[in-house]
Amino acid sequence: MNKKNSFAFSLHVFVLFFSIHSSWAQKSAIEKNLKKEEALSHFSFLASDELKGRDAARMEIDIAARYIAEQFEKYGAKSLEKLEGYYQFVPLIQSAPPQVGEIILGDKPLTLGGDMLVLGGQDVEGEFDVVNLGYGLEEDYEGQDVSGKWVVTRVGKPDRLTPSELFEAGREKRALAKSKGALGLIEMYNVPNTPWGLLANYLNRPQMGLDPAPHENQQFPYIWVKDLSNEILNQIEPSGEKVGVRINGKVNRKINGRNVVAWIEGTDPELKEEYIMLSAHYDHLGVGQPNAEGDSIYNGARDNAVGTVALINAAQFFAENPPKRSVLLSAWTAEEKGLLGSSYFSENPPIPLNQVIYNLNIDNAGYNDTSVITVIGLGRTSADHHIQDAVSEFGLEAIPDPAPEQGLYDRSDNVNFAKRGIPAPTFSLGFTAFDEQVGEHYHQPSDRFENFDLEYALLYWKSYILAAQKIANDPDQPLWMEGDKYEEAGKALYQLE
Ligand SMILES: [Zn+2]
Repeated sequence: MNKKNSFAFSLHVFVLFFSIHSSWAQKSAIEKNLKKEEALSHFSFLASDELKGRDAARMEIDIAARYIAEQFEKYGAKSLEKLEGYYQFVPLIQSAPPQVGEIILGDKPLTLGGDMLVLGGQDVEGEFDVVNLGYGLEEDYEGQDVSGKWVVTRVGKPDRLTPSELFEAGREKRALAKSKGALGLIEMYNVPNTPWGLLANYLNRPQMGLDPAPHENQQFPYIWVKDLSNEILNQIEPSGEKVGVRINGKVNRKINGRNVVAWIEGTDPELKEEYIMLSAHYDHLGVGQPNAEGDSIYNGARDNAVGTVALINAAQFFAENPPKRSVLLSAWTAEEKGLLGSSYFSENPPIPLNQVIYNLNIDNAGYNDTSVITVIGLGRTSADHHIQDAVSEFGLEAIPDPAPEQGLYDRSDNVNFAKRGIPAPTFSLGFTAFDEQVGEHYHQPSDRFENFDLEYALLYWKSYILAAQKIANDPDQPLWMEGDKYEEAGKALYQLE
């Protein structure tokens, strides 16, 4: 061995020793910081019967929000200047279909549930002029006077025809029609790949959504009509037609939902401008159908009190041990109603989304293997090794999604950020298959604190914090793997290349 090599060798040993040592120090700092009784008391409170299943439509959820906010504050995480204290208020609307719903369009009487759906608006009756406007996009309004009339359009946008794209386009088109002075919007449904019957069944019942007009009492009428072969649409002249409308007994209730948000400033003068976002939804299903034992409270210990407590524990740890990057803590409301809290945040971010370089989300159905942590989205970002190392330092193994057919990645809050380009896996309790053991408690009243393996909960929380810390301290920004479906969105968001 020559001198140069021997120097390199001892440097290598030194670096190796130092990194093992610092990693050991990180782990022991987490062990010391996380107080078992304290963490478990957060868990048992958030999953308690008194919170009545943290339903975003019930008032008890505000107790949970307040509790989370107070823990953030107590541990020293700060509120964001742009928000109201620790809350981002989320305008929600709880609606139910009308008792009577009929329209007559192109001589054809259409009835609620069968051929038409009332998706928004309030009671209204009368005959109105109609303007047929293609897709109903900005350019379609050119030279048209829709004031005091109803607008009829195709559903969705060209090449934007998945259900979530239809809803998003619908929100935009409603706002546009309204701003042009129209009285109502009818969209003609002709999408072959999502059957009308399935949608009608799903949409024609009480549900919650983001309130499109939070500051108004009037609700803008919004109707879908089944028109699979464009038979009705083709009959409607561009103008001069009428629609008869009778809607009666529509229910709309406004709710002021809350995302609970806090942050911890990073220590590195440059990296602190970047945020790693730790997130989990704190709502659950509320009170519902009782099980065989007569229990009707859906406590949601796994889904997702355990994740909410991970955020509280992370607030406690990172406030005392801030990493190089800043840490953003986000507890979402109304995930169970359609990812609403996170969707609102992604559309109204209190800090620019291109400063959020990673989102380590938590959501859970349940677990069937306490020797692993299942990471939905493992294999898709360059930060995987940090997660794998953190988990293995606590004696567990990180495994990728074992049930891709469930589409879990696109069914939780992380997807609202992935779509915008932010690498965003979901750190879940260990499951090796979406099997009966997971199904036993998933969305059931039996998903309780009392039957949770608490030693496993502690390891889960600790490895989550260590994974977050490693990512937050890594000078390299984590990126999507090449060829990932969200890679292009990432490049656009961060202006890479
Ligand atoms: Zn759920």
